[in-house]
Amino acid sequence: MRNENKTQVIVVGGGPAGIACAITIARAGKEVVLIERGKFSGSKNVFGGAIYAKPTREIFPDFEEKAPLERRNIEHKYALLGQDDGTIISYKNKCGESYTVIRGKFDRWMADEAQKEGVILVEETVVRDLILENGTVVGVRTEVEEYYADIVVLADGVNSLLARKIGLRGSLKPEDVALSVKEVIKLPEEVINERFHVESNEGCVYEIFGSSMAGMLGLGFLYTNKNSISIGLGVTLSELIEKSLRPYDLLDKLKQHPQIAPLIKGGELLEYSAHLIPEGGYKKIPMLYNAGVMVCGDAAMFVNNMHWEGTNLAMISGKLAGETAVIALGKNDFSAESLSRYQTELENSFIIKDLRTYQDLMSGVSSRVSEFLGYYPEKINSFFEMFTSVDCIPKREKYHKFIKSLFTDRKISELFKDGWTVLKLLWSILIK
Ligand SMILES: Cc1cc2nc3c(=O)[nH]c(=O)nc-3n(C[C@H](O)[C@H](O)[C@H](O)COP(=O)(O)OP(=O)(O)OC[C@H]3O[C@@H](n4cnc5c(N)ncnc54)[C@H](O)[C@@H]3O)c2cc1C
Repeated sequence: MRNENKTQVIVVGGGPAGIACAITIARAGKEVVLIERGKFSGSKNVFGGAIYAKPTREIFPDFEEKAPLERRNIEHKYALLGQDDGTIISYKNKCGESYTVIRGKFDRWMADEAQKEGVILVEETVVRDLILENGTVVGVRTEVEEYYADIVVLADGVNSLLARKIGLRGSLKPEDVALSVKEVIKLPEEVINERFHVESNEGCVYEIFGSSMAGMLGLGFLYTNKNSISIGLGVTLSELIEKSLRPYDLLDKLKQHPQIAPLIKGGELLEYSAHLIPEGGYKKIPMLYNAGVMVCGDAAMFVNNMHWEGTNLAMISGKLAGETAVIALGKNDFSAESLSRYQTELENSFIIKDLRTYQDLMSGVSSRVSEFLGYYPEKINSFFEMFTSVDCIPKREKYHKFIKSLFTDRKISELFKDGWTVLKLLWSILIK
């Protein structure tokens, strides 16, 4: 029975991490089975979102010609929202390096490509457990069957019950994840082009800070698809629990904000979804390998929340796990020592380097969240309100009043603390 059901590698989870891993193994001529619980890859996957061209090309060099892409993002807007006003900073570049995609279509395309290259894809199958022999992972248990392999790669997403079951990871803590809600709103293509000042194949991304997050550690987003808009926000779960707030109430408020409402006006709600995002960063990276097993993508907490990056970390960590599996198969050595190459490669890559760069960001910002994501965005908006208003008050008088308000609205000691936090964060990001 064991020999009949034995392959070289089993990858659990047909998202970007699992597919990148499986295709890397298949391209090296090894046997690999990819198990996905959804009806098809991407059917259960939620993201903002944009995929990034350079990392995606590492797995699919010609994806720009073949994959189902929505729009190439040529403009990034950073919106600092006040209660009913907002300041928007925009960066535009006609050669944008990211694309909006619909995961249901894009992940399915990636999985089809993987099958063409020899990956055996098993869909609608949930892996319930891992099979261990003498502390080594030797297979997986689904609802109906046991399957054996020399190596099992866990790419089963943020919850990764499997990594938890074998003690590679602890349970998710509410402060280590953001709860994100998202709506897809249908709008005609030409309306999107007109509202966002783009051509049919071009897109615009909004990153949203300020009032809509009700002073909590969180960000909003808006992406243009071909004929729909994806809008949503993510807020640290611990704060939502503490303040007894429901994320969809926050999203409703965001959609009604005067800066945002005109962008989605007249649209038809197509889809509503919610998902967790790993936010723990470098300090919460779990054990990444053990005898017979490796963990990649969201299951390994590989998300760079500062830059809205996740799919790229998933794909590249999957590729590195795949390469390590191929080398281990060549040596016929599936011990923890042999698979430790995966960790070394990750440490040499942008993945661990970037997560290390931002390791103090969440704790730094979370200690002064209402200041950085509430008070200061409001202050920037009130500066522009003052600067743009035309009245009969002399300008110098208005400047003086604004500067004075900086020191009266907030105690000087608090301003020093804010400045000190910023300096510490800069030191940790640029030097530490
Ligand atoms: C709201 C939101 C917005 C985001 N925006 C962006 C963005 O704009 N850009 C970006 O790069 N990233 C973004 N991310 C992050 C990104 O979506 C993830 O980092 C990425 O999807 C991780 O890929 P993965 O393959 O590790 O996991 P997933 O994409 O979660 O895939 C895991 C797969 O495993 C399957 N699975 C789970 N358990 C089992 C099991 N027991 N048996 C079999 N199959 C199983 C699931 O069905 C799923 O297909 C966003 C995330 C969210 C929630």
